[in-house]
Amino acid sequence: MANVSLNRKRAKLKQVLGIRARLALLAVILVVPLMLERIRSLEDARVKQIAQATTEFTTVARHSADAQREVISSVETILKSEAFIRASAGGVSKSCDVLRASLPTSLPWIRTLLIAGQDGRIQCSTNNMYVGLDLSDRPYFQQAQETGRFVLSDFLLSKPLLTPSVMAVYPVSAFSGTADAVVLATVNLDWMSKIMNNLGGRSGISAVLVDSTGTVLAAPADQHSAVGRPLDNLPLMSAIADMALRSDQDEGSLSFIAVDGSRRAVSYIRIAGTNARLIASIDEDRVSAAVSRDIRTAYLQLAFVVVFVLLGALIAAEKLVIKPIEMLADMAKRFGEGDLSARAARNRLPAEFVPLARAFNAMAAQLGQRERELIASNDRLTVMASIDMLSGLANRRGFQSRLDFEWMRAQQYDSNLSLLMIDVDHFKLFNDTYGHLEGDSCLTRIGETLSGIAADTMGFAARYGGEEFCLLLPNTDLTRAIEIGETARAAVLRLCLPHITSSHMIVTVSIGVAAARPHETLRPGDLIEAADAALYAAKHRGRNTVVEHGLVQESEGAAEMAMAG
Ligand code: GH3
Ligand code: MG
Ligand code: MG
Repeated sequence: MANVSLNRKRAKLKQVLGIRARLALLAVILVVPLMLERIRSLEDARVKQIAQATTEFTTVARHSADAQREVISSVETILKSEAFIRASAGGVSKSCDVLRASLPTSLPWIRTLLIAGQDGRIQCSTNNMYVGLDLSDRPYFQQAQETGRFVLSDFLLSKPLLTPSVMAVYPVSAFSGTADAVVLATVNLDWMSKIMNNLGGRSGISAVLVDSTGTVLAAPADQHSAVGRPLDNLPLMSAIADMALRSDQDEGSLSFIAVDGSRRAVSYIRIAGTNARLIASIDEDRVSAAVSRDIRTAYLQLAFVVVFVLLGALIAAEKLVIKPIEMLADMAKRFGEGDLSARAARNRLPAEFVPLARAFNAMAAQLGQRERELIASNDRLTVMASIDMLSGLANRRGFQSRLDFEWMRAQQYDSNLSLLMIDVDHFKLFNDTYGHLEGDSCLTRIGETLSGIAADTMGFAARYGGEEFCLLLPNTDLTRAIEIGETARAAVLRLCLPHITSSHMIVTVSIGVAAARPHETLRPGDLIEAADAALYAAKHRGRNTVVEHGLVQESEGAAEMAMAG
């Protein structure tokens, strides 16, 4: 059982690994590396494109950060000069006068300039509604007092208009060395957003300026709604908010998968001298969308090419290999079934199959020749098998088949059929007297004689067995048959073959004659029996004589054998 299933599996495997499958596999092996190479180069292009976009974007972001820094520097410069005036001129009123006169129109991002006393109360401002406000609890105020350095606040909604801004602070103590007033400026964040516009409007790219708490200070126009909102509330940004804000480094980049599944690269740059950071994020998938499309097209192309090549391989295999093999197999089959004229059509075969077809045709021609020779020699053997070599006449077998044929024909044409049974008289004695060889040549002479008579009478002579001959006479009635019997008997007499131990001194024959009109109920054997019976009678009548036996149909379906003579 195990063997059978193993064989079946092998047969199946052979089918699967048939010539078509092998050619198809070969075609795929040839095509796939080329296409994979193309896809690999496209993937490379994608990586390069992303890298290029990232570099380009980082540069733009850096420029943007520099621009922001310039804005802040300009604010710092103004505040520094105000602080210096306060420190050097001394006195609140003078410095306030200078302050009110010095709001620069060339720096539109400075909304208001203020001076707050050591106690945090605003002493003067370019906008009077701030005067008297207490800033002592504000972290930026405290930080500037503590550090004695320029401080930029986190995101603010400046009262009373609740406009988004940041506060820049410079302590006068930086010049005077003692705790003193601070000079402040409210910085308009709209302006900072405008500076970032060159970072917006590009597909897959977002950028924001955030303060140390992660609140968005500025964003390009298309993302303006983000201003004032915490970074981790913004889609795509929350994942990197922590990393970007906690990093000690001034500059960095990282890559992550956003909640929407897009792969993002993020760069962050700290604005020098402040806690603000510019964060730019780039959606790699969108940036590389074109290359991705190309890669998808390449995969489609690969599928098409593979299908095309497979089809091509299959068609080529069919036309160049399978069809010729089937043609040759068909020819061999036809030849095997006996169509000796079957030949392979060489002109319809691929060149590689021509030698095979030629060899096949040569073999077929040779086999055809052998077959013809075999048929001829079979025919000869068949003839030989029905011929008696001694007399040259048909033997009993040949006689039997001729009798069947003539019987059928006579029955068909309702004609007479006669049979002469001819037996050599005292032939045993002849043999005894002259020897067996002489006996043979005697039989040969009688055979020749009967052959001549058969030719004359349109009859068929045969050696029935031993020294007994017969002559079948189609279309011959009893009377004519008796005449021919007499002719035969006389012909043998005329041979004058000496036979001293016979009463006639020469070789004689006894002949039994029977005639019939064959019909349904009569058999060929009946004719033989009747002729035999007549021969028997001739022997009894003293030999060298002709005796007839008529087979006469008396009534329907009944045959009567009437003995005559
Ligand atoms: P009858 O007149 O009654 O026919 O007597 P007969 O001797 O001819 O008959 P019998 O049947 O007694 O003998 C036939 C002989 O024919 C016997 C056999 O030796 C001989 N004979 C048969 N075939 C051949 C043969 O092929 N060659 C030779 N030489 N003799 C044969
Ligand atoms: Mg005999
Ligand atoms: Mg005899």
